[in-house]
Formats: sequence, structure tokens, C-alpha cells
Amino acid sequence: MVDLHTAYASHLREVEANPSALERAQVTLGRDMVEFLKRGDKALEAARKALAYASGNPSGGAGAILDPKEIRLMSPVPRPGALVSAGKNFSDHVAEMASKKGPSSPVAFLKLPGTVIGPEDDIPYPPEVKNLDYEVELAIIIGKACIDVSQDDAFDYIAGYAAFNDISARDIIRSENKTGIHLMGKSFPGFAPMGPYLVTADEIPDPQNLKLKLSVNGETRQDSNLSYMIFKIREMIAYWSQMGLNPGDVLTTGTPRGVAAGRKPDQPPWWLKPGDLVEAEVEKVGRLHNRIVAE
Ligand code: MG
Repeated sequence: MVDLHTAYASHLREVEANPSALERAQVTLGRDMVEFLKRGDKALEAARKALAYASGNPSGGAGAILDPKEIRLMSPVPRPGALVSAGKNFSDHVAEMASKKGPSSPVAFLKLPGTVIGPEDDIPYPPEVKNLDYEVELAIIIGKACIDVSQDDAFDYIAGYAAFNDISARDIIRSENKTGIHLMGKSFPGFAPMGPYLVTADEIPDPQNLKLKLSVNGETRQDSNLSYMIFKIREMIAYWSQMGLNPGDVLTTGTPRGVAAGRKPDQPPWWLKPGDLVEAEVEKVGRLHNRIVAE
């Protein structure tokens, strides 16, 4: 695990003899992931040089190499510009939620960007919520500003991917849905665990066939595949790009079957409660471990 600013500054100083290496590193890489993504290929190229430098100088990295055991990871995009979450986007989930049929074009809702938490953070249980639920999803992190993107070009705008858990307060959502609009039921503090990394798009040429899994206290609840999405990743990006997307915006895919709300009423309920450990995993992307704690 490498501190990019320190490693890139060392690279600039040692390899390129740059006299203002640290300042240059900060300008090139930005202060956080959204700034990094806005800088585009230049920042990614600098990150690759930093990584190569640190790998070639394991003892001389001047603090650039970090011990993963001493690190607590934040979300790779701690504060997305926009967080757009697809709903009713897996046919098996549409069926378990007793919806008559899936939507004829993509539908989504917004989660507040401030709901994002890291891959190991606790999820506070809001005392006013009765039916707390989970939804494993893939988060797609946008890397370039775009508008009206075609499906063929859609993947050119993806910076990378992360695992995502769309935590949901079903009783609040049911109440809000009487008006046809919901917000708070998806946006209590900590309702968007995301991570553990931003896996760059070049590492996953075909994200549309990744496995998704979620367990609660070790018991498998969701076990599916992104190939079952109704509107595919290309279609989501093309559709939502009509409103303009920017670096650091995040789209999430929607979730497959196995949520607590889809459990038959004659079976013991699966609602989350304080003390539960929720693990959400996307193949090749990584796993989130989040514990529910009393608020
Ligand atoms: Mg969802």
C-alpha cells in the first residue's frame, strides 16, 4: 500500500530532479479522489510512476510504503459529486418485491453524497427505523465529464469500480412512496458503504458478468451476477448522461434478489439489527465488512 503523494514526490525528486517535488506532486495528484479523477490521465500516469518508484525502492521510499494493518481505509470516493442508484434493475429482485413488471426505461433515485462510508465502518441503526435492509450492488465511478454519451462509447467514461451496499429503511420508503417520491429512507447517515478500493477500469474489461454476494453474520442472503441486470452498465451510463455526469459521480447498478424485504411473510424476518455484520462482495472488486451499531 503506497502513499501516492509521498511516492510521487520522491520520484520527482530522485528521478526527474524536480526542485519543488512535493508541491508538484500535490498539484498533479490533487488532494482527494474527486480532484484526482478531474485531472484525468495525467494523474493516473503520475500514480503509476509513483507505484513503480515505490516498488523499486522498498526501503528508500521515505515513508511512501504503508503497512495495510495500520491503515483504516476510507471509501475511495468519500464524497461523490452525485450518487445515483438504479432501482428495480434485476428481474429476480423485481419479482421478489411483487412489482408487476420492471420499468420500461432506467429508473433511479439519489442518495445523499454524505451517506458514503468506508469498507470497514460501522452503520448506525437509526432508532426510528423498523425495517432495515441491505442491497449489494456495483458502484461505477465516472472519470470524465460527459453528456449524451452513446452506449458504444459509455465505457470510455468509467474511471473504475467499487463494491456498494445500498442500505435501505423499508418502512420509511413505504411511507414516502405514498407520494411517489422517496429520499430519507435511502439516506440516513452511513447508508452507503463503498469500497474497499477504486479498481481502475482497465483491470476489469468486462464488468457485466461479475458475481455479487452478500451475507449477514456469515449466512448468504444474496448470490447473483451482474449479467441479470435489466438495463446494462452501458445503457445506464448512456441514459443518465443525458443530465450530464462528472468525474467523481457514482452510479450504482441496483441489486439482485435476496433482500430482507423480499422474504416471504411466513418465514423469520431478515431485517438488520444492531450487532449484525454485513459483508457485501463484488467479484474482482472487493468486499465490504460493516457492522450495524445502535445510533
Ligand atoms: Mg439499490
